[in-house]
This record gives sequence, C-alpha cells and structure tokens, in this order.
Amino acid sequence: MNRPILAANWKMNNGPTLTREFMKAFIDQYPRQNERTVMFFPPALSLSTVAHAIGERRDVWLGVQNVYWKDQGAFTGELSVPIARDAGARVVLVGHSERRHVFGETDDETALKCAAVERGALTPLLCVGEKIEQRDAGQAEAVVIRQLRAGLSQMTQLATRDVMIAYEPVWAIGTGRTATPEDAEAMHAVIRQEMLSICGDRGRIAPILYGGSVNPGNAKALLAASDVDGLLVGGASLDASSWLAIVRS
Ligand code: PEP
Repeated sequence: MNRPILAANWKMNNGPTLTREFMKAFIDQYPRQNERTVMFFPPALSLSTVAHAIGERRDVWLGVQNVYWKDQGAFTGELSVPIARDAGARVVLVGHSERRHVFGETDDETALKCAAVERGALTPLLCVGEKIEQRDAGQAEAVVIRQLRAGLSQMTQLATRDVMIAYEPVWAIGTGRTATPEDAEAMHAVIRQEMLSICGDRGRIAPILYGGSVNPGNAKALLAASDVDGLLVGGASLDASSWLAIVRS
C-alpha cells in the first residue's frame, strides 16, 4: 500500500443513504492517486455501499471497525473475518480505544482478533494509546508497548505479513486536543523500535498511523513528523470537504 495512508473511521455514523451520497462526492472529486492510500471504515451495514463506490480502484481500501475472532457460528450480532473479506474488506481495525474503554475489550481479545485477521489473510490495523492519567503518571510508553506486544502476540507470520499500527492517545480522540507533531514523533519512534524487536526487519516497513482530533488544519504538520506514515481520522472524516482537504494534505 502506498503512503501516506489516510484512514476514515466513521464509527456509528453514516447509514447506507448518507454513505452513498458521501462516496459519490468523494469519488467524483478524488481521482486515482498512486502516491497515497485512502481507507474507509464504515459501519457494517454500509460496507457494501462503500465497496460498490470504490469499484476497481486499488488506491481506496475498505475496512471494518471490528471483528469477532471465530470464523462462523452462533455469535449473534458479530462479524467474522471471512464475512468481512467476502464484503470486500482488506483491513480490520482492532483494539480501537472505544472498543477498549466503552466495550471493555481486553489485550487478550485484541490478540485473538489480530490472529483471526492474519488467519483470514486480511491486514490488522491495531490501535494503541494511553489514557491521560497514564500519561500524567509517566506510563504512556509502557502502556503502548504492553498493548502492542499483547495485540501481536498470537500472530505467527509477523516476519512476512503486513501489519499496521495506529497510535491514538485516548486523551486526543474526539476531544479537539491533538498531540503535537513532537508528541506523535516521540511515541512513533518508540513503536518503531518495538516493531523491529517484535517483527524483525519487517518492522521497519510496518505503517504507523497517528489518530486523535486530526483536522484539515493540523494534518499536514502531523504527516511531516518522522515515522508518521498516515492518519486515522474520526470526526473530521464525516464531512466530505474536510475529509478531501485531509486526504490532499
Ligand atoms: C478515531 O476514531 O480513531 C479518532 C481518532 O477520532 P477523532 O479524529 O474524532 O479524534
């Protein structure tokens, strides 16, 4: 996948009707680009609408916001990796801070999910990030390293397969308070080191995205920070014009 990577996490917004309108506006105004990759993580019921709008374009990827780790069975309300792949998804968000802190997802569950994504030949985008009280207590790096090691611990092909990481400090998500490019750069350097030790050489090329109150005004400076290979964007990806401004940053 080409970099930078600009990923839109729509969370629980945009049903099929709004998605159809949004994607029409986006695709009309965003001709194929070879030097960047755009990803959309719509709610499950809008996956096929995004897949249809993307068509044959290889520079725009479809992703799902969450999966269960079993491939099929009696798990009402859940979505599996084979179902996501069948719907056209290529990438899966794992361990987003809302999954961890609203729904109580544990490190062990993120590990099972990353392993299921690998088994199903999709790419995991593992989200890590500390809470404000952990940062204030000087524990930010330890928390991020713990989440990273735990999340990847059940994967068996790390030396050969794509894995993406998003650093999303919890205190910056949906709060309007963004990490500075220096904050992002410092934590991304820690993540890069850790990826090298976990994955070997492959850790050098694993994309590391930043997320947390990204907007058209700060996207460019964040992307210029070293080891920031892309952005994961929530709120500002819901408006077609601000999203277009970010992907063109
Ligand atoms: C997110 O949902 O991953 C996110 C970073 O949200 P926001 O951009 O709204 O802070």
